Amino acid sequence: MSAETAYFDWNASAPLLPAARAAVDSALDAQANPSSVHGKGRAARQIIETARREIAALAGAAPEHVIFTSGATEAAAMALVPNFRMGRAPLRLSKLYVCATDHPCTLSGGRFAADDVMRFGVDSNGVADPDELSRHLSGHDNAAGLPLVAIHLANNETGVIQHLEAISKRVRDAGGLLVVDAVQAAGRIPLDLSRGLADFVILSSHKLGGPIGSGALVAATGLVMPVPLITGGGQEKGHRAGTENLAGIAGFGAAAANAVQSLDSIGAVGAIRGRIEELVVEVIPDAQFHGRQVERIANTTCFSVPGMKAETLQIAFDLAGVALSAGSACSSGRTGPSHVMKAMGVDSGSAVRISIGPSTSENEIAVFAEALRQIAGRRGSKAHAA
Ligand code: PLP
Repeated sequence: MSAETAYFDWNASAPLLPAARAAVDSALDAQANPSSVHGKGRAARQIIETARREIAALAGAAPEHVIFTSGATEAAAMALVPNFRMGRAPLRLSKLYVCATDHPCTLSGGRFAADDVMRFGVDSNGVADPDELSRHLSGHDNAAGLPLVAIHLANNETGVIQHLEAISKRVRDAGGLLVVDAVQAAGRIPLDLSRGLADFVILSSHKLGGPIGSGALVAATGLVMPVPLITGGGQEKGHRAGTENLAGIAGFGAAAANAVQSLDSIGAVGAIRGRIEELVVEVIPDAQFHGRQVERIANTTCFSVPGMKAETLQIAFDLAGVALSAGSACSSGRTGPSHVMKAMGVDSGSAVRISIGPSTSENEIAVFAEALRQIAGRRGSKAHAA
């Protein structure tokens, strides 16, 4: 990152880690079909199985329960389906209940018909309401099939962490299955599928500093599994066909190993986020933060500036060398308040998100501080002219 720019968009895609790049490079050199039985094929298989162990360790799961995908979106499409199997027996899940501030990859309902997807809301801080989920679940007809619930663990726009234990209890009481999108939580708070709170977690490589285009669905037990989204050659024990993305998986594994270790230094990221928020308050005292009153992952802050549209703010920051997002990058191109802000009841079209990471530097903070001052100056002169 040059001294003149600040990359504050880690939740969209974290910078590629040197260890991930090295793992990708050596996997490219080792290219062979991991299903081939000859030596080169077996070496490629080794690379995949090493990554599988690294990702399992991050999720607190057994390696044999990690299924590689092209990313979190594909993992969500795989998991959110009415047809599961328990061993060989079919198991029907008749409705999907999804949190209103989920990422579009789960909010869109996966392979459920639109009429079978219900949303449960959040409070003004963005915390999901377990009682509202329970109200939905109490009306669920278990004779038609079990309920499936999906929720993110940490929000990509605000960083707000959901109360997984409370949600899980409601899902268990209703006899349902729980899919947790841990894309933004991984490497920022501990994950432990072995605690039995969730049945599946969804992970994405590029949010951890691995290459783009790799992800995983991780099952807690492997006893109950969704019918595959992609069928064919039987890879991933028949759960996801197609020759594995060897280089992508290798880089994902290296990033997952790094994420496990970097949990210890997450406090330092929180301290940098604190300084960034102090700067915002100092330079733009009327800025409003979203989700700041509740527990958040350490790297994310979301705020709006009264009277300024998110797009205008984002462009102003970009021109001043700061890369950040208005709402989520995945929904960029759309204007107006994000679905997350709407669900929180925030009446503001101006929320921008800053997301940082362990390598965020003093230079980047200085670039941001200068950008803030320029924006505040322009805002001040406009107000003066009005
Ligand atoms: N879930 C969350 C919470 C995200 O933030 C994102 C991407 O921003 C995704 C899922 C989708 O991830 P992928 O790009 O791997 O499909």
